[in-house]
Amino acid sequence: MRLGRIGGVVSAIALAATMTACGSSQKTVDAEASASSAAGGAGALIGVTMPTKSSERWIHDGDNVKSALEKLGYKVDLQYAENDIPTQANQIENQITKGAKLLIIASIDGTAITSQLQQAADNKIPVIAYDRLIRNSPNVDYYATFDNFKVGVQQATSLLKGLGVEDGKKGPFNIELFGGSPDDNNATFFWNGALSVLQPKIDDGTLVVKSKQTDFKQAAILRWDPATAQKRMEDILTSTYGSAKVDGVLSPYDGLSIGILSALKSSGYGTSGQPYPIVTGQDAELASVKSIIADEQYSTIFKDTRKLAEQTVKMADAVLKGGQPEVNNTKDYDNGNKVVPSYLLDPVIVDKSNYKEIIVGGNYYTEDQLQ
Ligand code: BGC
Repeated sequence: MRLGRIGGVVSAIALAATMTACGSSQKTVDAEASASSAAGGAGALIGVTMPTKSSERWIHDGDNVKSALEKLGYKVDLQYAENDIPTQANQIENQITKGAKLLIIASIDGTAITSQLQQAADNKIPVIAYDRLIRNSPNVDYYATFDNFKVGVQQATSLLKGLGVEDGKKGPFNIELFGGSPDDNNATFFWNGALSVLQPKIDDGTLVVKSKQTDFKQAAILRWDPATAQKRMEDILTSTYGSAKVDGVLSPYDGLSIGILSALKSSGYGTSGQPYPIVTGQDAELASVKSIIADEQYSTIFKDTRKLAEQTVKMADAVLKGGQPEVNNTKDYDNGNKVVPSYLLDPVIVDKSNYKEIIVGGNYYTEDQLQ
């Protein structure tokens, strides 16, 4: 039975703000060999730009990258742009002006900072794309991320598991598809990964996208905005469902899942007679892990931001010391100008069956935080 209270979008955002204010107890990265290589940093300034504080994961990312760089002796200018593209462009320009020796950028719009990157190249400042690939520029040196296609595969696999398809249930199941922000390169990777699993089941009739909105363009949610996802889900429920039921929703990000669950709740889901559909997610944000425990959201994809920060900081340190950073993928991330050498980390599916082992056992959140 999938009962419980769905906090609204507003409360998720308030929660992210509270977490910033209080500081999460999530452990920050212990940079390797911090003491021995401190001299390498020698006080050089590194510019770090993150998209927004309205989602918890970027707060963790920023904190983790900053503290790991500082342990190596670097100075850090960490900026958030509240998803505003010109603000992020200005922040990068300021960092170049301030004399940053390397830039780590999690972009908002992966195509919108080409001239800033040219300025960086003119000043011989290397650039590492963080989590999201920066597109259409030759001036991106390295990319550190999770295997984004695999994230989509895992979201779809978890949706099928929740629906019982993996155990042989034939359906047909009514599902709806949500995509991420179209200006974020990751969003198409997530979508293509998910559809690689779902399309054959749509083709054989196991899954039915009742709204018929099966194109990425129809499903995409600009800037990953939870309220936009909530509105789209409300519109689909009103226009398409009538007395029919939604059985599953592919959601690519926990913030969207919260919006989607709110729409479903307003439409009468979340009772013993009408349980929530299987709703996926991504990022293991605190509100969503709680929602999973409360049988609302079904699953999330855990991407350990501590590991991403650690890998990125290792890359930065190697570049600044004139060495070769470790990469493990030199074919998949073509940014429209060149294939950017990348390091891909492994994402993990988390649902009610394994959150204790992965999330609590991995010290990402404590049991207390999940109360
Ligand atoms: C990240 C996801 C995140 C999304 C929304 C993507 O680029 O890879 O982890 O859920 O942005 O912030």
